[in-house]
Amino acid sequence: MPDPTTAPSALDILGQVFGYADFRGPQQAIVDHVVRGGDALVLMPTGGGKSLCYQIPAIVRQKAGHGVTVVISPLIALMHDQVGALHEAGVSAAFLNSTQTQEESGLLEKQLLRNELTLLYAAPERINTPRMKGLLGSLHERGLLSLFAIDEAHCVSQWGHDFRPEYRSLSLLHETFPDVPRIALTATADALTRQDMIERLKLQDAREFVSSFDRPNIRYTIVEKTDATRQLLRFIESEHAGEAGIVYCQSRKRVEEVAEALADAGIKAMAYHAGLDSALRQQRQDRFLREEGMVMVATIAFGMGIDKPDVRFVAHLDMPKNIEGYYQETGRGGRDGLPTDAWMTYGLQDVVNQRRMIDTSDAASEEFKQVMRGKLDALLTLAEDTRCRRVSLLHYFGEDSQPCGNCDNCLNPPVVWDATEAARKMLSCIYRVQQASGISFGAGHLMDILRGKTTEKVLQHAHDKLSTFGIGADLSEVQWRGVLRQLIAKGMVRVDPDAFNTLQLLPDARQVLKGEVSVMLREQAAGEKSGSRKKGTKTSVKGLAEAALNAGALERLARLKAWRAEVAREHNLPAFVIFHDATLRAIAERSPHNLADLEGISGIGAKKLEAYGGEVLRVCAADS
Ligand code: ADP
Ligand code: ZN
Repeated sequence: MPDPTTAPSALDILGQVFGYADFRGPQQAIVDHVVRGGDALVLMPTGGGKSLCYQIPAIVRQKAGHGVTVVISPLIALMHDQVGALHEAGVSAAFLNSTQTQEESGLLEKQLLRNELTLLYAAPERINTPRMKGLLGSLHERGLLSLFAIDEAHCVSQWGHDFRPEYRSLSLLHETFPDVPRIALTATADALTRQDMIERLKLQDAREFVSSFDRPNIRYTIVEKTDATRQLLRFIESEHAGEAGIVYCQSRKRVEEVAEALADAGIKAMAYHAGLDSALRQQRQDRFLREEGMVMVATIAFGMGIDKPDVRFVAHLDMPKNIEGYYQETGRGGRDGLPTDAWMTYGLQDVVNQRRMIDTSDAASEEFKQVMRGKLDALLTLAEDTRCRRVSLLHYFGEDSQPCGNCDNCLNPPVVWDATEAARKMLSCIYRVQQASGISFGAGHLMDILRGKTTEKVLQHAHDKLSTFGIGADLSEVQWRGVLRQLIAKGMVRVDPDAFNTLQLLPDARQVLKGEVSVMLREQAAGEKSGSRKKGTKTSVKGLAEAALNAGALERLARLKAWRAEVAREHNLPAFVIFHDATLRAIAERSPHNLADLEGISGIGAKKLEAYGGEVLRVCAADS
């Protein structure tokens, strides 16, 4: 029988097994609730520390005789590393996969029936196989089914961005084993997805734990797109040379082009998208996780569950579909809490493309499209916003906050100009052209008319005779593009994907035409250095991270990293599974001479101290 009095406390486990001194945010409350057998729904941003919320209850409960925690995760490709990380920390864990032999599965079953396994990872489709159901049933009969942890729980909802139909069948778990506690976790927070998730997984009675979604170490920057590839190169070279990062592009073709351009410039970069065969994808993902300073150029097919802690930048070369996606993707940077950049380039074409994708997707219902349009609009508003990016982002997730001092708008407050007059000119030009010719035209032609250019097309349609011809010669094309993009973002102009991307007025344009509202816009000065932040005005995130270490510590750090790389290779695991950068930095800084010096350094639990303590001391001592 389980004996709760002999069980170590959750805080003991946190220190002994994981080497951390304190719980973060709501972790303690979640862990306590789940240890006691309560159901929980955990909403925490990427990097917030969700794993410990089920791993620690799993350990405590298994030690108390309750048996195994079954973790359901969609990320088969990552299970090997997740289980490896637990082994490094001295926790018994395993995962189910389709390549296991009868003998291996038999062994696993024996372990389970003897209460020797703390965590068992499985993909949702494996849970519902007859064999697995039988196994779960016999564990349950013996009181050895401790907890279900449903990771990436938003996958159950079609409103989330990673819908997995197999997740739908997870409600069966609850129906079959109603007395086994469950914890569902996700980093996706919008209200619609949350509600759907609760209903689908039947979590109505679970206690909700909603964390702040702030990721203070991430610096958000959104720049205007001029030449995205060149801007990216400048950004990486000036801010993140030699560091790991993820670059998101919209299409496979762009992914390939950008990866090649980076490689040509001497940056270690690889392409990743759904068009590559799965073995190659797995190989590249492994390299990204295992090698230092790799840049992955990818479509959104890459990244879910990537728990590499030292991703120093996430760049978006094209605008994502919505804020949830953007926030999840940028959240993959800086899980170690060190300074990190989230950097996006965005332009008129992005707005046009995203609108078109929604309007022309014929699979979806009109209701679905309406929801998607609303989500896109929210992202456009963020991109055009002149206020603190973090305040806007958090507001979207229902949180109030103060200007952060760590985003582009806080660090370099954008100049705002009164564009009411320009907006009016643009809108009336669209109106006049439509009225005179009976058809609509695209952005380029309209800007030619405004700027008074007598192009062939202008002459052909006699648009030089319009009252709006040449009334906008005072602004550059870049400025006009800015005006137009923001009019689209504000819902006054629509780009019609069914008619060659021509521009049409929307009802809201009337307010501006009548002079009822003014339009304030971000300055798009022609020479704006949009590729990287202005030099000298602030410290780059890389500078911030390195400033703290002296020369001796930097040398030790380099040696420790080389040693870690070797160990990681031997164990076939990513380096961060052995020790995080932050842990190595702390070791390098402390310059330890004996094992006692290593105690209390964050990230060194009992098992790692025993396994690696001696070697770490030897590596550190090499200079003295
Ligand atoms: P999530 O799954 O929420 O994205 P993880 O569980 O991967 O986040 O945790 C992010 C990082 O934070 C991990 O590297 C983890 O080791 C670390 N971490 C989590 N909880 C703590 C804690 N209480 N103290 C120190 N580090 C922690
Ligand atoms: Zn800010």
